[in-house]
Amino acid sequence: MRKFHGARALSLIHRSWRMRASRTFSHSLTRSLSTHAPSPFDPSPEHRHLREVVRDFAEAEVDPQAQEFNKEEKFNLKLFQRLGELGLLGVTVPEEYHGSGMDATAACIIHEELAAADPAFTLSYLAHSILFANNLARNGSEELKHAYLPKACSGELVGGMCMSEAEAGTDVLGMRTRAEQTGPEEFSISGHKMWITNGTLDGSTTGDVFLVYASSKSPEASSSSSSSKSFSLFLVEKGTRGFTLGQQIKNKCGMRASMTAELVFDDCRIPAKNLVGKEGNAVYCMMRNLELERLCLAAMSCGIARRCVETMARYARDRKAFGKPIGQFGQVQRLVADGYAKMSAGRAFLYSVAQKLKLDADPSETNERMQTDAVKLFCGEMAKSVADSAMQVLGGNGYLADYQVEQLWRDSKLLEIGGGTNEAHQKNIMLDFLRKQVIEIP
Ligand SMILES: Cc1cc2nc3c(=O)[nH]c(=O)nc-3n(C[C@H](O)[C@H](O)[C@H](O)COP(=O)(O)OP(=O)(O)OC[C@H]3O[C@@H](n4cnc5c(N)ncnc54)[C@H](O)[C@@H]3O)c2cc1C
Repeated sequence: MRKFHGARALSLIHRSWRMRASRTFSHSLTRSLSTHAPSPFDPSPEHRHLREVVRDFAEAEVDPQAQEFNKEEKFNLKLFQRLGELGLLGVTVPEEYHGSGMDATAACIIHEELAAADPAFTLSYLAHSILFANNLARNGSEELKHAYLPKACSGELVGGMCMSEAEAGTDVLGMRTRAEQTGPEEFSISGHKMWITNGTLDGSTTGDVFLVYASSKSPEASSSSSSSKSFSLFLVEKGTRGFTLGQQIKNKCGMRASMTAELVFDDCRIPAKNLVGKEGNAVYCMMRNLELERLCLAAMSCGIARRCVETMARYARDRKAFGKPIGQFGQVQRLVADGYAKMSAGRAFLYSVAQKLKLDADPSETNERMQTDAVKLFCGEMAKSVADSAMQVLGGNGYLADYQVEQLWRDSKLLEIGGGTNEAHQKNIMLDFLRKQVIEIP
């Protein structure tokens, strides 16, 4: 991890930002991070500093816009570009491509802090910074990385990743989108991709740039029995002939300020230099990037849960019924205390796995698949349950948009579906156990 430059940039940004940001966020419980000793959540001073910068930004700029943009199902592009100014859009991208060169823990910190203010905005951030930028940084050619990563890190381009299709979600290797080599320097992609975050930003045209998975037949693949050999990954930019917006997917249950779309590839001609990684080897890119995605989605769950615990604890302290604070009733105490315990367990699990995840591990090495499946599984359910408790503690007010817990409750459901359903994580974990000769948990 090259932290110096990233940390120095963050430090400068933080100072100037602090000077301007006299606006305060009245209900922050943890204002005193700067005086804390390193913790499992902030293992180094750089991590702690990063958390402070993002928390201040989330409270002052992300939280105030969340209701409006979610209600109107609009993506806040200007705010997204502010993340570029803060050096957050390429958190795991090496500095030579204008990223911050930080690690998985840093990525989790950002996702947790942003999601506590607006999970939908954070989902768009995840699609850009992890599904697009981190994937390209780890797997792309030097030419592609130099051409696209600086613009992704500044926010000039908003990226996304196309894996799912209408009939291939959990069964992602059943995808029908095909890529064929049509010349020595050219591929053609045809197919439909569904549920693509940042697939459109304005509702009428495609988003800016995508990493697109397609099944392809390389000479090696045809002679191999391994299905992992027959998928390739391509970078496709807005405006490429044959690449269009199918439909914007509206009226989602939650995550409404994150734009979701169907994208269509109709004999879309891509220069061979846009191949990311080796032809036929894209399953390795996919699986490796999914590990960081699962961690960041779990971090979003932790952000949602933390906000809900803070909100319900405050409400239980201030709201009176039968002449006393409702926090003095055992049933309410149980909701708040259980929520706090679950959130703390999820956060501890998350950061323990994040510290172990190696972003530059060789794709053939075993990394943290089982643990990342487990942490996302645990934290997704945890966030939904804690958000449900928060609504219950707030009574009628919990059911209103004003206190934001109903939005967090709706948003939390996505974390049991996107990036792998709960059942997919359960399947993966059990299959990993079945592969082991000796089952032993260290
Ligand atoms: C808001 C949103 C944003 C998204 N963003 C992106 C994106 O940016 N890029 C992208 O590529 N995708 C994206 N997705 C897609 C997401 O990853 C898929 O929705 C998810 O993987 C589930 O696939 P599916 O919807 O096809 O459900 P299905 O796979 O059809 O699953 C339906 C049900 O069957 C269960 N099931 C399926 N197979 C099994 C099995 N073998 N064992 C047990 N149960 C099983 C599932 O767990 C689920 O309960 C997004 C989805 C949403 C809703």
